[in-house]
Amino acid sequence: MSAKPRVVVVGGGIAGLSAAFRLQQAGCETVVLESGPPELVGGRMATVDVRGFAVNRAATILIHSYRELIRLIAAAGLAGEVVPGNDLFGLVRGGRVDRVRLGSRRQLATGGLLTSFPLGDIAKLLRDYRRVRPLLTPHDMSPMAAADFESVHQYATRRGLRPETLEYLLDPLVSGLCLGEPEEVSAAMPFVFLDVILFGGGFFTSKEGVGFLPKGLARQLTVEHHAQVTSVEERGEEVAVSWHRPGEAEHLETAAACVLAVPPPQVPQLYGQLTAEQREFLDDAPYARSIHVAFGLDRPTAERAMLVQASRVEHPDLCAFVLEHNFSPQRVPEGTGLVMTHLRGAWSDRNWELGDDKVVDHVLAGVRRMGILPELERHTTMTHIWRVSPCLIGRRPGDYRAIARFAAGFDPRGRVQLAGGDILGHSTTNSSVASGERAARNLVARLRTEGTLTPERR
Ligand SMILES: Cc1cc2nc3c(=O)[nH]c(=O)nc-3n(C[C@H](O)[C@H](O)[C@H](O)COP(=O)(O)OP(=O)(O)OC[C@H]3O[C@@H](n4cnc5c(N)ncnc54)[C@H](O)[C@@H]3O)c2cc1C
Repeated sequence: MSAKPRVVVVGGGIAGLSAAFRLQQAGCETVVLESGPPELVGGRMATVDVRGFAVNRAATILIHSYRELIRLIAAAGLAGEVVPGNDLFGLVRGGRVDRVRLGSRRQLATGGLLTSFPLGDIAKLLRDYRRVRPLLTPHDMSPMAAADFESVHQYATRRGLRPETLEYLLDPLVSGLCLGEPEEVSAAMPFVFLDVILFGGGFFTSKEGVGFLPKGLARQLTVEHHAQVTSVEERGEEVAVSWHRPGEAEHLETAAACVLAVPPPQVPQLYGQLTAEQREFLDDAPYARSIHVAFGLDRPTAERAMLVQASRVEHPDLCAFVLEHNFSPQRVPEGTGLVMTHLRGAWSDRNWELGDDKVVDHVLAGVRRMGILPELERHTTMTHIWRVSPCLIGRRPGDYRAIARFAAGFDPRGRVQLAGGDILGHSTTNSSVASGERAARNLVARLRTEGTLTPERR
């Protein structure tokens, strides 16, 4: 057997790192080309140090039902870094926070939150959830095409749900998953959120923030930083990848295969060998943008929930608060607090250019108006603003049919494979891990078939 086949992975987010890790395990030589700096390895799963606080750039919540991600943590020898998370969830309603524990279905059923909605509505939602549950797969949501014909708002009307169920249950589920609105988003999306958050079996974290995983994988891989890929081309038996780094001559890599693990709209810009329909599908990925603000506090909050969500009835723009110190006390320096505040995608779009001070003022006015988290106003020692684009996918009615067509048309035996939960699934770290692993499996099968990679030892 000759030297190990070389595989180039474009993008050092969790999808690309998962693919590279699994390819390396299977015997390939891999290099990850990442346009960002080392401190942002992991992309939307990065955690950075801001004045002593480990601040997550985007993803924060890791859930026990994330099977692929949990297996990856174990395979990478990082299980020792995981700490259990608190599972108290809060919903703002009329100036107070209703709370429920999400660790088990029994707690959810008896905890007061769901029972505060009309029983008939909850029964209908649970019946519909049971029907679509087999269609929910983390990396490829094509099966959901069968149940994708209306928006959340249309679904609520058709099922005769009360307005309070739409506004206080479905709306927070939608904004929590994609920062979107019930009128725009497919009725399938709240069921995804019900599945991963409400029925996910609780949460876990690391004292380093979620970035412990991408950082831990990157330590075991070859990652080129500040490496901006400009083109990927299949040329017969190999793939040519061009990239540049400021101040250096253009680099050209040739490899046996490539994983493209960048957000969907960036794929056609790098990879020209797509059909017009594939290009259109990737270009049209329905992304929200997000401006979110981290508040470092000189004390923990009186609020004990780790995640508090707000309906648009309570506030038109502010939709979620992640209280990191409540996730696990080890997440923050002793005696302090760390709160991530999230604004809806429509607000972020309208205010993308707004100055940092004005964004912070808007959030503070919002918590004051809702009567929650007074510590943000009185005990803040640090604020950090993230502007993330592309941010989260909000599937519209009909999108799952487009996913099914795209998935059916993409060759799993090609030398170039795509990875990223945003392509066929939803924006979660677990979907991205699952998609990266699937890309790796496809390439390993291809390289073994053509004899460039040693068959698996039994
Ligand atoms: C505000 C917010 C909150 C979220 N909360 C959660 C949560 O609580 N739990 C959860 O599970 N998920 C959450 N998510 C979703 C999760 O963060 C993402 O779905 C996941 O991290 C995406 O990983 P990825 O590798 O597919 O993409 P990315 O992380 O975007 O990685 C793509 C990488 O490619 C690089 N790249 C792009 N172009 C090039 C190029 N030309 N050359 C080289 N490199 C390039 C980028 O720099 C980036 O690092 C959240 C997302 C956001 C935005």
